[in-house]
Amino acid sequence: MRIAIGSMMHESNTFNKLTTGLETFNLADGDEFLQVQGWKGTVIDGIYNTLKEAGAEIGPMFFARAIPSGAVRLDAYEYIKARMIDKLRRSGPWDGVCLALHGSMAVEGLYDPEGDLLEAIRWEVGHEIPVVCALDMHATVTERMALLSDGYAAYRTAPHEDEAETGTRAASILLRSLAKGRKTVNAFVKIPLLVSGEQSETRVDPAKSLFEALAGYDALPPVLCASYVMGFPWADSPFGGAGALVTGWADDVEPLKELAKKVALNFWEKRAEFVYSAMALPPEQALQAALAFEKRPVIISDSGDNPTAGASQDTTNFLRLMLESGVRNAVYTCIADPRAYRECSAREIGETFPLTVGGYYSGKESERLSLSAELIARAESQGTAYAVMRARGVTFVVSNGRCATYDPRTLRGLGLAPETYDLIAIKAGYLSPEYQAMSELSILAHTKGDTALELRRLPYVKTPRPIYPLDIEMSF
Ligand SMILES: [Zn+2]
Repeated sequence: MRIAIGSMMHESNTFNKLTTGLETFNLADGDEFLQVQGWKGTVIDGIYNTLKEAGAEIGPMFFARAIPSGAVRLDAYEYIKARMIDKLRRSGPWDGVCLALHGSMAVEGLYDPEGDLLEAIRWEVGHEIPVVCALDMHATVTERMALLSDGYAAYRTAPHEDEAETGTRAASILLRSLAKGRKTVNAFVKIPLLVSGEQSETRVDPAKSLFEALAGYDALPPVLCASYVMGFPWADSPFGGAGALVTGWADDVEPLKELAKKVALNFWEKRAEFVYSAMALPPEQALQAALAFEKRPVIISDSGDNPTAGASQDTTNFLRLMLESGVRNAVYTCIADPRAYRECSAREIGETFPLTVGGYYSGKESERLSLSAELIARAESQGTAYAVMRARGVTFVVSNGRCATYDPRTLRGLGLAPETYDLIAIKAGYLSPEYQAMSELSILAHTKGDTALELRRLPYVKTPRPIYPLDIEMSF
């Protein structure tokens, strides 16, 4: 049994106008991915281990993963696709293909890159062997994707804590299909709904109950795996919106279609209940609420500029507010600005100097903040370099490139103990489990940026209408 595996994962924020080139991707060719630390515990790890335990001969193709950002440049996508197809062609024949895709990638000139990739793979391997994919739960699935893959398994937790399990579920669909010599198929029902991750955390209802119910459906023959794919609201796409995706045996398709309709309707009926699980306030009120709260630490998400949903990570509007508010013993992480970092890297620790920070990627003059600040520390972590600065009671971090900020280990790696601050402000949406556990109160500040939470204010043009909540009065 020879199975090809590969991965292409990028969540593309089309409201961030800065496009994403190949240099942004973490790439691995063939077996190399086993050596790359960043793949451990991820969906591809789950796929690999499950296939290996089943005694499969695994043929790693090509792996590409990047932090969310603006739409991917066409040449970068074509390169990734060509590397995958080339490996499929040169190392075949195959008994199956198992992929880890995000599902909400946008490529300049292509509205449906995952569908395009699957089409190229089908031309290469044909329709006789199974092709099964794992997806992020924020995937924007198209009819073409549903047709061209034999099965899907999407994450069931947000924050995503079941990546490896999802890989296992995807690989298991493929293994069961091969063991029985029986084809599988997808039933897909689109749900005309835009919902942000901050309104659909799975530790609270309605997402909790909806996603927990899926495991029960998996056990109902002829179903193999039921998934919700919620789409990605910070992308303007003609395929925008959520969906219900049910994979099962192809020779018993009617119950799959019925179930897909039923679970889609279950989701739709809860549409008005998807609300923020944290307190959500305009930025000024968020700061006032934090200052007035008696317990510490309070964590505020600067949610309009969340790099893990593809924002530019270079706004300073919330840091500016913090500096003006008189807040003391606060930490802010982190502004990506290579130009400001360069300035910091040329200075001595303990030196106070004038610094201009922000607006580097977006080019927005209004986000450029000039201030006098002291350099506290410099450090490197996972390929990103950081400078820790302090001004007027606020410790803030500047990095030499865009990076994830949701893990408190980043601050610890810079010699800072986040739990000792009264206020921790993070460029993030919903909090990671670690920050969630640390916070006495968490607040989503409705700040400006590419991931602004008020979806009704975003300039959607291509997204199909009517869609909730842009159009409230509508039926499904
Ligand atoms: Zn996601």
